Amino acid sequence: TRSKLIAGNWKMNGGLAANDALLGALRAGLRGSGDATCAVAVAVPAPYLAQAQSLVQGTAIQLAAQDVSQHDGGAYTGEVSAAMLREFGTRYVLVGHSERRQYHGESDALVAAKAQKALAAGITPIVCVGETLDQREAGQTMDVVRRQLAAVIHANGHCISEIVVAYEPVWAIGTGRTASPAQAQEVHAVLRAQMAAATQVAARVPLLYGGSMNAANAAELLAQDDIDGGLVGGASLKAQDFLQIIAAAR
Ligand code: 13P
Repeated sequence: TRSKLIAGNWKMNGGLAANDALLGALRAGLRGSGDATCAVAVAVPAPYLAQAQSLVQGTAIQLAAQDVSQHDGGAYTGEVSAAMLREFGTRYVLVGHSERRQYHGESDALVAAKAQKALAAGITPIVCVGETLDQREAGQTMDVVRRQLAAVIHANGHCISEIVVAYEPVWAIGTGRTASPAQAQEVHAVLRAQMAAATQVAARVPLLYGGSMNAANAAELLAQDDIDGGLVGGASLKAQDFLQIIAAAR
């Protein structure tokens, strides 16, 4: 079986004390279970990268960021570059999360450019794709996710095997309404086929599912052929829930 990746997306949550407690509990929970069958990452708000870096040092937990600039540096107030993320040991960065696409107007082309900057800095972009409820009901799911992924493939063809893809149906995010394992697998199979057309090692590219994944539904989702892990929002803020999801992936 492929190795799995469980990534927590803290979104705009946390604080110095809360991060200390959460990462402390994760460290304790993962101690002694250092097998290589499931990688674990946490995507923390940018101001906490330094704190999180020191707290995960020497553990199996890897550091992720939630966004990256499409620029290398300069007069871009408020932006954070890939090189800056790299300085804090960032291993992964989310690009194209639906909350960035929806609330910050990120286009497919912008998401592709951000993935490119991450790859150039040696950071693995976790490329998020997913349809809205309206799009699903209009039968456009496959067209939407294919279009979103195609932009990233087009801009990054030479190193496309280095990305991670996360399928996150927008209607399942933070709603408690998860995609059924069959619904998720159906989309993952399409994404796998699209990756296979772009790289000979598509089987190795982790395809994560995200959207109301929790301790109760993780095992069934992760048992699907083309679901190689999870991108976990709300449940990643509770150490026991997140640890149970990691255990389900092993
Ligand atoms: P929830 O797990 O809270 O639904 O969030 C999913 C998500 O958006 C992860 O990036």
